[in-house]
Amino acid sequence: MRTRREFLGVATAGLPAGLDFALEDYHVHLNTMTLEQVVARSRETGVKYGLLEHLGTKENEYPIVLSNDKEALDWIAKLKDHGVYIGAQAEWIDWVPCFSKEVLSRLDYILTDSWTVRDASGKRIKAFSAGYNPGDDPEAFMKWYVDWIVEILETTPLDIWSHPMWVTRKFTSQLERMWTEERMRRVVMTCKNTNTAVEIDSSVRLPTVPFLKMAKEEGVKFSFGASSQGARVNPIDWSINTARELGLTKKDMFQPAPQGRKPVQTRKLRA
Ligand SMILES: [Zn+2]
Repeated sequence: MRTRREFLGVATAGLPAGLDFALEDYHVHLNTMTLEQVVARSRETGVKYGLLEHLGTKENEYPIVLSNDKEALDWIAKLKDHGVYIGAQAEWIDWVPCFSKEVLSRLDYILTDSWTVRDASGKRIKAFSAGYNPGDDPEAFMKWYVDWIVEILETTPLDIWSHPMWVTRKFTSQLERMWTEERMRRVVMTCKNTNTAVEIDSSVRLPTVPFLKMAKEEGVKFSFGASSQGARVNPIDWSINTARELGLTKKDMFQPAPQGRKPVQTRKLRA
């Protein structure tokens, strides 16, 4: 049986065929997986993984939510020196004051998505949960949703925007129509101005090609992610193929900022 490394066509110097950069997947949750399993998988695939724990106030409902310096430091200590990137997936927009800048800057990167939203009464709710009602009007939904994405990007110091362009399941079939050129441009320019990388997400196969091309032209950086949620590490084939099709090269790819230059240390946030 061929190993995954051979299947991906890893060429000389350990680079995958057609790409001039090493493979990295910045979206792996451990959940029921162990760190050792991920490290073993990395040896098999040649992909360097970035591991995430959810981070934010305890109001966010996840089995584990890092909510203070001590919890963040424990997470960092657990992953240190294992050849993985140490990341966190921030939730909502009120997490920054839960931590000291010094501790946040010890994370390699912070990623977020825009799946936790405000419901009609302003309360936080997971837009993928059964209890969420996005209304019937996709236009009305998009109007506040794009504002919300921009608010997240402008008010929190992020490295990566994950699950880009995703919309609530009810409107998935209309996604491309709902993401007008103007809306895509607004979000792309916000990513550019905030220096936030965009995930090329193998789990939901987003963003779309027009968005990716626009972001590439503006010099926005990209990361790969498969949103592995435990049980196993998912493949990033879609991300790889998309990068090949777009002609992405090393200069287009996200790398964690060095100490002293991390968004949590340098970003001027919108109040
Ligand atoms: Zn995630």
